[in-house]
Amino acid sequence: MLFRMHPVDFIREKRDGRAHTEAELRAWVAGLTQGEIPDYQIAAWLMAVYFQGLSEQETFVLTDAMARSGEMLDLSGLGPTVDKHSSGGVGDKTSLVVGPILAASGAVVAKMSGRGLAHTGGTIDKLESIPGFRATLSKEEFLAIARRVGLVIAAQSVDLAPADGKLYALRDVTATVESIPLIASSIMSKKLAAGARAIALDVKVGKGAFMKQAADARRLAELMIAIGTRAGRRVGAVLSQMDEPLGRAVGNAIEVQEAIRTLRGEGPEDLTELALALAEHGLKLAGLDPARARPALESGAALEKFRAFVAAQGGDPRVADDPERLALAPGVVELRAEKDGVVAGLDALKVGLAVLRLGGGREKKGAPIEHGVGVYLEKKIGDRVRSGEVLARVYHREKGLKEALELLGGAYALADAARRPPLILDVLDPV
Ligand code: URA
Repeated sequence: MLFRMHPVDFIREKRDGRAHTEAELRAWVAGLTQGEIPDYQIAAWLMAVYFQGLSEQETFVLTDAMARSGEMLDLSGLGPTVDKHSSGGVGDKTSLVVGPILAASGAVVAKMSGRGLAHTGGTIDKLESIPGFRATLSKEEFLAIARRVGLVIAAQSVDLAPADGKLYALRDVTATVESIPLIASSIMSKKLAAGARAIALDVKVGKGAFMKQAADARRLAELMIAIGTRAGRRVGAVLSQMDEPLGRAVGNAIEVQEAIRTLRGEGPEDLTELALALAEHGLKLAGLDPARARPALESGAALEKFRAFVAAQGGDPRVADDPERLALAPGVVELRAEKDGVVAGLDALKVGLAVLRLGGGREKKGAPIEHGVGVYLEKKIGDRVRSGEVLARVYHREKGLKEALELLGGAYALADAARRPPLILDVLDPV
């Protein structure tokens, strides 16, 4: 028995707002990882944490215990390692642009990524729309590609922070996701276990993000920076707007197309701006010159890294020359404006849900997804439209089309005038 206290006493302690000791918390994490504690008691504790919170000290201990619940990757000897992580958004294909820019600037990016979660997309689902691409790698393959190419992105293995796997699955079904200490410990336990010395976080704020308010996003960012710093890593964060989707493409194959166009210098302004900001921040955190990022993108060196990385993981590298090789679903429906105006709102949550309904994400854990479905947003906040003009194009396979069109129609708000909100709200350095 790893957990010796009675679970009911442990839950009551938190329910009544008292602090856990370090020994109790570590034993609790060990016990739940080993399957000693039933799900209903873990779920009750999560709800107690949701309402009572955790102190900074408790959050540090919880994160460290979760990180050590499985394998801790050793990336030393690879060079200046940088990881990048987003707290989750819609149309967020930033890793596919930032990774190659960092690698082309002299950093080593050995990254574990997730699949889609709720209405937010996942980097691994996007990459698997490239024919032949392999996201499941052995540890040896993972390290060999990092060493040879400087960029590798693999699906998170079950050995990495398994306590988070258990807690996340329960949070997802018990309405306890939106807790700052629980999100911070979930993200940072995986980042610490994945081994990079420098970590650039992209903390999203707005309708399509888990944090709806800027003040909460800032607290989350500061807590993650404090956790990482305590663990001896260089961690910084960019706070970025997620009221409307990032870029114009939302889906899987369609987002990879947009990421490749961005690497070719033909991408949307917001994605290019955010990718460069994150790459510059990551380089600075790793002790490299941030001024290398823009030339790496503009010279085509980042595109070459992308090509080498795709080939190293078994994918068809010709997609780097011709993103149209990535097949989109054959059905195309256009959503048109019913009046003249300026787009004043484009609700990222509704757009994310529309793609989920089309089959671009999972309603059930482990279910297959349609890589080719998605949405292309012809108009975004601040764009003028005329009645009858195309607002968005929907790529579909019949499934969920009616609901997706309703969601998408409800996502757009037209007004007489509107300005695009700033994309980057702040950049936070290590403490
Ligand atoms: N991403 C994670 O990995 N964990 C969370 O709790 C939220 C977003």
